[in-house]
Amino acid sequence: MKRIAKKLTELKKAHLYRRLNTVQSRQSAKVRVDGKEYILLSSNDYLGLASDLRIARAAKDAIDEFGYGAGASRLVSGTMSPHTALEAAIARFKCTQSAILYNSGYCANIGLISAITGRNDIILSDRLNHASIIDASLLTRAKVRRYPHKDTAILERFLQNAKGFSKRIIITDGVFSMDGDIAPLKKIAALAKEYDAILIIDDAHATGVLGAGGKGTMDHLGIDDKNVIQMGTLSKAVGCFGAFVAASQDIIDYLINKSRSFIYTTALPPSCAAAAKKALQLVQSGDDLRRRLFENVDYLRGRLTGAGFDVPSRETHIIPVIIGGAADAVGLSRHLKDNGIFIQAIRPPTVPECTCRLRITPTTAHTKEELDRAFDAMLNWRA
Ligand SMILES: *Cc1c(COP(=O)(O)O)cnc(C)c1O
Repeated sequence: MKRIAKKLTELKKAHLYRRLNTVQSRQSAKVRVDGKEYILLSSNDYLGLASDLRIARAAKDAIDEFGYGAGASRLVSGTMSPHTALEAAIARFKCTQSAILYNSGYCANIGLISAITGRNDIILSDRLNHASIIDASLLTRAKVRRYPHKDTAILERFLQNAKGFSKRIIITDGVFSMDGDIAPLKKIAALAKEYDAILIIDDAHATGVLGAGGKGTMDHLGIDDKNVIQMGTLSKAVGCFGAFVAASQDIIDYLINKSRSFIYTTALPPSCAAAAKKALQLVQSGDDLRRRLFENVDYLRGRLTGAGFDVPSRETHIIPVIIGGAADAVGLSRHLKDNGIFIQAIRPPTVPECTCRLRITPTTAHTKEELDRAFDAMLNWRA
C-alpha cells in the first residue's frame, strides 16, 4: 500500500493526478458543479441529445413495459425485443447486413478485436488510436505494430513485411478523439484490399456527426466497402449508452459465438436500447442539429485561431488547443473554471508528453454568447 501512496504523490508532483468532478444537473451547455453553474465545453454530447426529453420518454415507456434489468446475458435469456429492434435499426443506419450491440464502446473494441484476432495474426494500429484498442490488442496475443499517426507509407511497409502472418488486421479511429482529425481511410481501405487485410474502423466520434444522416466517416469520405468492420458508440453524439459493431452477417454471427465481452456480461437494460433507437431516429433526421453544431464549432475555432492559439486540426467538430506541459494545461483549465468555464486538461497517458491540451467541444446546444465567454476567458489567461 505504501507503493500506491508513493505513486499518487508522484502523479500529483507531475501535474498528472486526476480527480472526479460531480455534475449535479442534467448534461447540457451549462451544468452545475459544486453548486456553481459552468458553461460545459468538454462533453461528447455533440448534438445535445443526452438530455433530450423525447429520448428520456422512450426510456420511461420501455421501463413501464419491460421493467429495468435484462436479467441475464444476451445468449442466455437477456435478449429482449428492444435489443433486436435497435440492432436492426443500426444495420439500416450503417447500411450493413447486420449489427451487434455491446454494453459500451470500450467493451465493443475489447470483444471485437480479441474475437477476430489470434496468436498467429498481426495487428497494425495507428499510434494515436483510442486506449480501448490498445487494451484489446494486448488481449489478443497477436503481434502488434503501431504505425506513426496516419502514415500510410509506413503502414504499407508494415503490410509488405506481414505476409507470413495468418491474418493482417488494420485498426484505426475514423475521427481521432483527442486531435479531431480524420484517418486517410480511402488509402487505408485500398491497402487493406491490396494486402488482404481486415480493416476495423472505430467511429466513436463521427457517429451521428459526419456523413449523410450522421452515418460516419466512411460515408463522409464516400467509401462503400462491405468488407470494412465498423464500430461506433451510442454514448457520444447519440446521447445514450452502449455501442455497436456493424458488419457482414458472417462477422456478426461470429461475434455472437466468440466475442467474450458480448457473451459473458449481462445485456444492456432494455430501456437503454429503446432510448438509443429513438435517439438514432433523431440523429438520422438531424441535419439541422449538425448544421448548428458546425456553426458553433467554426465560430469558436475561428476566434481561437485568430487569436493565435495552436489549433492543429480543422477537419471536424473537435477543437484541440495544444498547450504543451501538464502544469500549463492544468493552470489554464483551473483559470477557466474560476471564470465559469468547464474544460478539463488532457494529459498523458491520454495524449503524448508535451502535447497537453484542452479538447474543446462546442455542441449544438451552445449559444454564441456562451462561446464568447469561453473565448474571453481563454484570452485573459495570464493577461
Ligand atoms: C469514447 C471512445 C470509445 C469508448 O466508447 P464508450 O461507449 O464511451 O465506452 C472507444 N473508442 C473511441 C475512439 C472513443 O473515443
